[in-house]
Amino acid sequence: MTTTLLQNATLLVTMDDGRRRIAGGGLYVEDNVIRQVGPTAELPPAADLVIDAAGMVVLPGLVNCHHHLYQSLTRALPGVQDAELFDWLQALYPIWAGLTGEAVYVSARAALSELVLSGCTTSADHLYIYPNDSQIDDEIRAAREVGIRFHPNRGSMSLGKSQGGLPPDAVVEDESEIMADCERAYEKYHDPAPYSMCRLVIAPCSPFSVTPELMRASVTFARERGLVLHTHVAETLDEEEFCLREFGVRPVELMRQLGWVGPDVWWTHCVYVNEQDIALMAETGTGVSHCPTSNMRLGSGIAPIRAMIDAGVKVGLGVDGSASNDSSHMLAEARNAMLLQRVKLGASALSAEESLWLGTRGGAAVLGRDDIGALAPGMAADFIGVRLNRIDFAGAQADPLAALVFCTPPRVDLSVINGRVVVEDGRLLTVDLPTTIAYHNQLAAELLQRARGTSTSSSPGVPA
Ligand SMILES: [Zn+2]
Repeated sequence: MTTTLLQNATLLVTMDDGRRRIAGGGLYVEDNVIRQVGPTAELPPAADLVIDAAGMVVLPGLVNCHHHLYQSLTRALPGVQDAELFDWLQALYPIWAGLTGEAVYVSARAALSELVLSGCTTSADHLYIYPNDSQIDDEIRAAREVGIRFHPNRGSMSLGKSQGGLPPDAVVEDESEIMADCERAYEKYHDPAPYSMCRLVIAPCSPFSVTPELMRASVTFARERGLVLHTHVAETLDEEEFCLREFGVRPVELMRQLGWVGPDVWWTHCVYVNEQDIALMAETGTGVSHCPTSNMRLGSGIAPIRAMIDAGVKVGLGVDGSASNDSSHMLAEARNAMLLQRVKLGASALSAEESLWLGTRGGAAVLGRDDIGALAPGMAADFIGVRLNRIDFAGAQADPLAALVFCTPPRVDLSVINGRVVVEDGRLLTVDLPTTIAYHNQLAAELLQRARGTSTSSSPGVPA
């Protein structure tokens, strides 16, 4: 057994049920599990590894509930910078059609590294497009190398343009092949045990890119195996119009009819939900990942998160894909969540602590986990530290927790995931970043090159 002692944190933010904040606090860890939390003087005096957190604010690692890691290959792309969701997707699908297994692996390595440096210790990723030789295995390999706790979503698209869907036929998959690959990934990777580093999620992409049959098959498949389900719901008015036209109901009602509600389901976005929708989510235990930056970037709207929290809906945060954010920064997402509710409801709409709660406990609940999101005995040893003596926080020492959200979002100085030090003195120990960034940029350039080579009038967004 290896023991770790973190001591003397200027402020230890527990996010436990009592929302305790401990000045001069610390943690005692055995292997990958927190055993004691409290003032440093009350903890064992020694351990195999001692981390001095003087001058730091320490809190549970953040939980990212929604992402498309591969999209970091197409960030800030000319031609789609000012587009709304459906135009944006239709311009990008032909580019993403050139993805390879190597590109999925390297982009996941880069985006997960960026997430870890921003305070994230657990991430979901919604991978719904599998062109060429790409597989979900490619991003799982990257997550293992980075050292992040990972919930890969075996996503899917099966409804091509010729069948009335949004994506081109070239990027959709056969439904029996999708389900066979879900089974393969489940057998190979899913670990339901406490402190699991990899849990598979079943995640058809959206009402406009899969059939109702695939949605139903996915629910049955997941529930037979105890897996959690995820999809995009009510992101834009275009989606609502699509659902009304094709199915005669709004997106949330469609989900209810398909059996896509329950404590084992979470949706992302939920911008266009009404009071009845929110009541249904609360009653059924259906969770939501709120993605404020993406919603602002694409001009989608403001999700009624305050109303959802007040109604008892499980709410977590997601950075969403890097082509609609265009960053993978969890503290920035907490900040934007706080600010965006205030735009709509005023300055008391969401506090700094509440937004960090969404990013920790909220996200853990959304992913169906009771072993992460708080610093308490029995929880996984996932925690982060941020030094307070930085230019971003100059003059903001009176409330270190608030500084994390109100001031410029920092990168973390310390990150421990499953008991392993992954970031030390602001440096990621698991990945050689300069090499990864250079290779990532090369693959991104090749992806655009490939799209230009095959560009036709069906891909208007490919920049010249
Ligand atoms: Zn998304």
